[in-house]
Amino acid sequence: MRGVYIHVPFCKSICTYCDFCKMYKNDDLIKKYLKKLSFEVEENYLNDVIKTIYIGGGTPSCLSKNELKSLFKITKKIKLSKNYEFTFECNINDINENLLMFLKENNVNRLSIGVESFNEKLLKIMGRKNTDVAKKIKLAKSYFSNINVDLIYGLNNETMDDLDDDLKNFLKLDVPHISIYCLILEDNTILKINNYQELDSDIERQMYDRIRKVLRKNDYIHYEISNFCKKNYHSRHNMIYWNNEEYYGFGLGAGGFINNIRYENTRSINNYLKGKIRLEEEKLDEKTNMENEMILGLRKINGVSRKKFYKKYHKNIEEVFDVSKLNKNNNNYYISKKYIYVENSILTDFIDKN
Ligand code: SF4
Repeated sequence: MRGVYIHVPFCKSICTYCDFCKMYKNDDLIKKYLKKLSFEVEENYLNDVIKTIYIGGGTPSCLSKNELKSLFKITKKIKLSKNYEFTFECNINDINENLLMFLKENNVNRLSIGVESFNEKLLKIMGRKNTDVAKKIKLAKSYFSNINVDLIYGLNNETMDDLDDDLKNFLKLDVPHISIYCLILEDNTILKINNYQELDSDIERQMYDRIRKVLRKNDYIHYEISNFCKKNYHSRHNMIYWNNEEYYGFGLGAGGFINNIRYENTRSINNYLKGKIRLEEEKLDEKTNMENEMILGLRKINGVSRKKFYKKYHKNIEEVFDVSKLNKNNNNYYISKKYIYVENSILTDFIDKN
């Protein structure tokens, strides 16, 4: 079964590190956007049963109730499996009783909440301001048991003590999933334009090791480079990406993988509203598919299953790839935890060599 990703590119304010596909909230534009989104789903959704929906952004929670009603009219066109996972991304400041009730009424059963930090100094650099985080998470937990919190680390004036405080505050929330990303200074972001300097990579590495140690000590399973969860609370939607499975991508700048075609939508709102939705499409050959299986699969701490690879491609991984740099256990090839932090360079090397 496939997954569905829906992109809502609107935000109330723009964060200083953000290079996502987003724009300021504008009611007139939202109306036109949701109409076109509905058209895109009608044109491309193949009516199959779906196991996960993920509404991401931007900040989907910045939509008004009427705009959310229109959005959920679209998701109601999608057939859901019995044990589906339906994730809705929220900004912590948008969380209130009405929103939570409304999301629950519309089949949402998982929240992904952008907190990013508990530290005023670091939030200020990010161009964010949070209020009553603990109170709002407590309220959210009274409606949803499956909750992810996003945190960012690695700002250049962040100390190990700052990180420890953020982890302590996160643990106090007692939610089953955390996605924790190192700040990357992307081009065309406010921080980059203002010549903000990156933190020393050795310190970033130490911070990553500290995060893994603290979360493991608190029974969080490290299942993907940046993702940790309590048992059975991994993100089923993101696992679709890392298992190189098929999914629809709807909305501005969204990407998808359907019937062996990988595609990307335009990031231009004008083109999108004019119906020039697709930016590019690529029919994948078997070699590219097998490479993606390894590149995406090795992001998972357990790596890639040899049995599943054989079942999918009727070839053994060793026949196709030089696996000398990978670790192997009974059934999986994986990247050793001590090198997981430098995964990207290992993967580039892996693909270049093969
Ligand atoms: S980081 Fe999220 S909330 Fe901030 S501007 Fe980007 S999409 Fe919007």
